[in-house]
Amino acid sequence: MTQFDTLTEVQENLKNGAFTCAQMIEAFLERIEKHQNLNAFVEVYAHDARSRATVIDAKLKHGTAGKLAGLVVGLKDNIVYRGHKVTAASKMLEGFESLFSATVVERLLEEDAIIIGRLNCDEFAMGSANKFSHYGPVKNPLNLKKVPGGSSGGSAAAVAAGLCHAALGSDTGGSIRQPASFTGTIGFKPTYGRVSRHGLIAFASSFDQIGPFARSLENINLLYETMAGPDDYDNTVSQKEVETVPPEQNEKPRKIAYFKDALTSEHIDKEVKEATFEFIEDLKAKGHTVTGIEFPLLDYLVPIYYILTTAEASSNLARYDGIHFGYRSENAHDLESTYKLSRTEGFGAEVKRRILLGTFVLSSGYYEAYYGKAQKARRLVSDKTKAIFEEYDFILSPTTPHAAFDISAESTDPTKMYLEDIFTVHANITGIPSVSLPLFQNSKKLPFGMQFSANSFQEADLLNFAKNFINK
Ligand code: GLN
Repeated sequence: MTQFDTLTEVQENLKNGAFTCAQMIEAFLERIEKHQNLNAFVEVYAHDARSRATVIDAKLKHGTAGKLAGLVVGLKDNIVYRGHKVTAASKMLEGFESLFSATVVERLLEEDAIIIGRLNCDEFAMGSANKFSHYGPVKNPLNLKKVPGGSSGGSAAAVAAGLCHAALGSDTGGSIRQPASFTGTIGFKPTYGRVSRHGLIAFASSFDQIGPFARSLENINLLYETMAGPDDYDNTVSQKEVETVPPEQNEKPRKIAYFKDALTSEHIDKEVKEATFEFIEDLKAKGHTVTGIEFPLLDYLVPIYYILTTAEASSNLARYDGIHFGYRSENAHDLESTYKLSRTEGFGAEVKRRILLGTFVLSSGYYEAYYGKAQKARRLVSDKTKAIFEEYDFILSPTTPHAAFDISAESTDPTKMYLEDIFTVHANITGIPSVSLPLFQNSKKLPFGMQFSANSFQEADLLNFAKNFINK
């Protein structure tokens, strides 16, 4: 069956009887089966998807179907769905079944999207390569020796390989945009507080955001508009009205800034650098103003991110104690050994590293030196960013310093991996919306994305602007 990148095409075919939802689901299930080697899915909801497809076919016939009828979506394994298992790719939550659905899931189901399964990711969404999963690494469909990026690697791989039309991921420091860049898909992180996190397994609560992956802006916009907006279950969501993305393309000249120093760093691959500068010239030729600006706080972004997110993670993950939730060690014999052994055996190495780091930066005596300082630095970054948006519409950067790397690459130095996030964490520290667009390929035919960020709650303008580069 043809792979359709937009829901419009799918719905046209459903309407003219080229295929039914039920037939389409069979085709997806076959394709998923064929691509099992990617390890993108943790679980496929074949039975569910089939029965929903039949219901939606009937609704389509009667003209009562929701606006997402025919859209087949995968969920990152940290977004809960009532009556379905969810583990955040951790042994800690093995066998755990959710009693409720995330608000985003409810909203997609209400509009008749079909959820086809849950997707592999880094354990508790911590990672940049999808190698820290209890279920093993995910492979990049464009080159099986390469990582798909992380932490939403399964979501990105599934969308890139055509195993679903779109997928949801979570982005705490780049986990939607970085895998989108590595797999040639579009990945979008909305403003902090635009989309409900009710039902997202928390990693770092002042950073976490849910967002979509797709192969077209149309599907990104539809998912975003369906999910966004106030939610009684999450009081961090803004009450602001959700602006829909205007259908007509806005071609007026815009003011775009990029951080000069970010592009001179030696960590950035030569081809990525060249492509970015070429792109900047292109933008100028189209009449946009593109300016390299100073951002003296650049070197602090990754440290701020890793101090604050590990602190928040150490607190969020305290609930996994062998009693309230999840895995309990069989070797435990009293309360203390239940805590200790369950956590020792249940968490993977990277999650433990972060809990330890987070506990350290919050500990008395060090709190002010690390956590307190990082909070202040976060405020400075936010203020400086706000000031930039008084003058500019968008901030541009490559999404990642290079294209996808080898799965077999040894990561003995965790701080090196943390530098992967150099371009993406800015949007999470400040809460601004940011999108990765699949615009480039290197000489080895591996994709890499360009990232545009806008001021808070300017997603409609940002996604509309993206239409200048992606025509579907
Ligand atoms: N790579 C980043 C990290 O390891 C981002 C994770 C995320 O956005 N969930 O923390």
